[in-house]
Amino acid sequence: MTGTRVRFSGVCYYINMQPIIMVDIDDVVVDYCKHFRRLCKNVLGWTYEPREQVKYRLSEFRPGVTLEQEFAVVDATYHDKDCWLEQPEKGAPEVLQQLKQSYRLVAVTARTPVMKNKTMEWLTTYLPGVFDEVLFISIGGRPGKVLEKINVAKKYGAAYFIEDNPDYLVGCAEAGIQGILFDKPWNQKMKNGSDFTKVYSWAEILPIIMKDRN
Ligand SMILES: [Mg+2]
Repeated sequence: MTGTRVRFSGVCYYINMQPIIMVDIDDVVVDYCKHFRRLCKNVLGWTYEPREQVKYRLSEFRPGVTLEQEFAVVDATYHDKDCWLEQPEKGAPEVLQQLKQSYRLVAVTARTPVMKNKTMEWLTTYLPGVFDEVLFISIGGRPGKVLEKINVAKKYGAAYFIEDNPDYLVGCAEAGIQGILFDKPWNQKMKNGSDFTKVYSWAEILPIIMKDRN
């Protein structure tokens, strides 16, 4: 899982192990919410300003919106062709390429397996060769499944976990993982804590991580 597997005298060994950085995709590597807001207008007939999104879930910051309506917007977003033409966030390709020199990069996303082919195609187009592995954990953003991402990070023995949803970073400190939280409208009240360091750009991430390699 964390290196090249070799067999010697019937025993499996992992070699060339590098520390792992787990990286969320939506709203970390690519601006997903921009398209979600646009498709909200198409599906529900109204939209909102980014600053209004004080919580992660549409059904949480807009009373009266059901989870089913929210997932209808999610579905429409992932089926919208312009969503798949979005460029990576500023600085992400360059910083990820630099981190790749010293780390194994594992993307982890709650996107469903139905989106796997399109996601892989997007990654190949815009971030070719960056990720060593891409995990589709298919939690679909369902409440009650917030621990699954951190559990995957623990299972992989990740050294870092880059996310925009602070709920997914709960438990990082206890697991020995350094969480990095991207500043977004829905985490404005979150300040640096034991589970994460908050950043405002990809450029800020590089020195945080690379100082540990020096
Ligand atoms: Mg995200």
